[in-house]
Amino acid sequence: MAKPKVAFYWCASCGGCEETVVDLAEDILIVADAVDIVFWPVALDFKKKDVAALSDGSIAVSFINGAIRTGEHEEMVKLLRRKSGLVVAFGSCAHMGGIPGLGNFWTRDAIFQRVYKEVPTVENPEGITPQVKTQVEVGELTLPEFYDTVKTLDQTIPVDYYLPGCPPPPDLIMQAVNAILKGELPEKGAVLAPDKALCDTCPRAETKPEKISIKEIKRPHEVELDLEKCFLAQGVICLGPATRSGCGERCIRANMPCRGCFGPTSGVEDHGAKGLSMIASLLGLEEEERMTEEDVKKLVDGVVDPAGTFYRFSLPASLLRRKRV
Ligand code: SF4
Ligand code: SF4
Repeated sequence: MAKPKVAFYWCASCGGCEETVVDLAEDILIVADAVDIVFWPVALDFKKKDVAALSDGSIAVSFINGAIRTGEHEEMVKLLRRKSGLVVAFGSCAHMGGIPGLGNFWTRDAIFQRVYKEVPTVENPEGITPQVKTQVEVGELTLPEFYDTVKTLDQTIPVDYYLPGCPPPPDLIMQAVNAILKGELPEKGAVLAPDKALCDTCPRAETKPEKISIKEIKRPHEVELDLEKCFLAQGVICLGPATRSGCGERCIRANMPCRGCFGPTSGVEDHGAKGLSMIASLLGLEEEERMTEEDVKKLVDGVVDPAGTFYRFSLPASLLRRKRV
């Protein structure tokens, strides 16, 4: 019997999702044995024309990581969608926009201005920025269009499943691969990770306070962090209450608070707003203490980059999607 065809592709991402596939260690041999990998630009020398030559729907599943930032990304994911039975949004950037999605706090012009003209290491006296078409002596050169707004994968093509995380952990990848191979997948649209908050599985949960009675929010490098105690009890923002579990609490175990890469549990429309409201509802002083306006200001000022803190991985998937100009 022919093995199911599988494709991997990356759009706007750092490459960590590709590395996590390699992190499958000896399990990658099981995957490679069970499937026929027909496209994986980072590791195998297949071309776009090889994918285009396949019949529509003939790839069993395409795992696509990265956000949609350029015309090339859009073209490739539309091609893979047409050729694939299933499409899995692989990792935070495909799922919610991820770190590249933070670009939505700026416009394309502002990004080009900074990157190609203002950065101290750039030498560009003519102020040239990337153009979709450029005429040169030998003809026309083309580049993919750099879009003004970063999109999630499902804002570009229909997505069947989501594997969350920055990057998704190997055990969740193997569970997803096994479920696909056995045809035991949940309902379409599901996030392939537990549907409960990270605090529910956190080894520090017992020390999580009902109310955080603090006058100042600290950043992780400003505190000597206690290895056992909930970060919130130490005055450090942790997005565990608003974030889906399934990562093995890997940041917490490395003594860093959760930044929310798994996204929200189901039913939450805006992960950043959920995180903000959860943290805001926990903050407050003991009943007998009155919080002055100055106390409130100091507390709020302690969140140095609120938009980046609460929307670090999810800005393109949020209700606002980008900075409104
Ligand atoms: S807030 Fe963070 S550290 Fe505290 S219990 Fe939740 S996940 Fe753990
Ligand atoms: S602890 Fe939070 S940020 Fe870290 S891997 Fe887990 S979900 Fe992602």
